[in-house]
Amino acid sequence: MAHRFPKLIAFDLDYTLWDLWIDTHVTPPFKRNEGDLNRIVDSHDREIAFYEDVASILHRLRATDVTIAACSRTHAPKLARQALTMILVPPPVGHPDASPTPAIEYFDQAELYPGSKLTHFKQLHEKTGIPYSEMLFFDDERRNREVKKLGVTFCLVPDGLDNVNFEAGLEEWRSAHPEPVHGEE
Ligand SMILES: [Mg+2]
Repeated sequence: MAHRFPKLIAFDLDYTLWDLWIDTHVTPPFKRNEGDLNRIVDSHDREIAFYEDVASILHRLRATDVTIAACSRTHAPKLARQALTMILVPPPVGHPDASPTPAIEYFDQAELYPGSKLTHFKQLHEKTGIPYSEMLFFDDERRNREVKKLGVTFCLVPDGLDNVNFEAGLEEWRSAHPEPVHGEE
């Protein structure tokens, strides 16, 4: 089947989902202006928002049983969590009357702390029981490809996540993990 998904898809935050380093580029307190979707601002009015295609990718995954994880080496985990809590994801296209949803609600797991991402993925594995071969990770930084050592499929997105590289990552995972032929194990 062409549209298999891995059991877990993880996303880095800084420069993968949004266009900044949450631990150095913004200053709390954050606020959300009335009516704003996919947008909060810091105390200097600097915007924190997901890249354009992120909302639709989250909607797409929510319609599957994929476990969604955030995985960041940030030195400001509380701020990252706060931003995810405050950013409202607009409803899916075609459902204009649905309520916007706080971004944090899309993430089943969040591993947010400094250090090697090997630790983040070992934690994800421990908490979910999902094998590394069923994990796909999107990240803008090449150094984090070390998670491949565990068996995680790594998709580098140097300019952030979009529909094109999301699809490419899925394809890469599918071709690395072909479905067993019926009758074989
Ligand atoms: Mg990053």
